[in-house]
Amino acid sequence: MRKYVDGHTHLWPKESLTQEMRERGETVGYSIPDINVSEVVREMDEADIDFVVVIAYPMRKLWNAREDFPLRVIDACKEYPDRFSIVGGIEVNELTTEEVKKWLEVQYSSGVTGFKLHPPHMWVKPNDYREEERGLKGLELLYQFAEDHDLPVIIHTGTSFFLTARNKYADPVFVDDVAVDFPKLRVIMAHMGRPSWTSAAFQLVRIRRNVYGDLSSIPPKRLTEYLPRVDEIADKLIYGSDAGGPGVKGLKAHLTEFLNSGVSLRTKEVMTRDNPRKFFRVIER
Ligand SMILES: [Zn+2]
Repeated sequence: MRKYVDGHTHLWPKESLTQEMRERGETVGYSIPDINVSEVVREMDEADIDFVVVIAYPMRKLWNAREDFPLRVIDACKEYPDRFSIVGGIEVNELTTEEVKKWLEVQYSSGVTGFKLHPPHMWVKPNDYREEERGLKGLELLYQFAEDHDLPVIIHTGTSFFLTARNKYADPVFVDDVAVDFPKLRVIMAHMGRPSWTSAAFQLVRIRRNVYGDLSSIPPKRLTEYLPRVDEIADKLIYGSDAGGPGVKGLKAHLTEFLNSGVSLRTKEVMTRDNPRKFFRVIER
């Protein structure tokens, strides 16, 4: 068996993109790269990567990707169902509760392995289901569904430079309510709040049993600068490159850098091999 898992990428096959997604990239500050699935698989083989997690969530405010986007990604990866794991998502503040229910079922039966919530891109706070916040019923449905089906929810934390992003939604502290209100739900904070909120994210992982983190998009060379005590919480962290996202070198280059970084050997092992397999399943499950 191949060794590694990359737990956070945006390697969206070019067949899954709409014309609008391609065209609007420039207007929000980032053009989506042309990704060829068989080339990705070749790079994975070279890097000894077993499977990669592709995060494909709706992004109306960026380039009008909708809830069918993850279905197109699954379809585009169908020749390699054991090499890809697809995370979907629902833009709960844009849909009725009936539509949220429908899309949860559709994405689940199509084979998503979890759901991504991107607060700065979607303009929603992770705890907006609460009455003293926005009372957003669809968000509660999303968490409830994920909890009932034992699917993780990945919540983006930390800033985003996309021109339509609102970084007031980027603070990981709002994840705390989710952890308390959905005790059986496994929440993964993507990027561990980098760059401004890494110590808050670290504390949440320490004190909340069901809160985890991924280290995607943090340059491996600067990891211990952002998270000096990373080894202490290694059992709750997942390796991810963020490949396909802005400024990331690529699957293999990022993995090599991480494996050569200053964290302990045990941390490297659990993060790249054991932990991601506890959360993510490939399309062919
Ligand atoms: Zn990402």
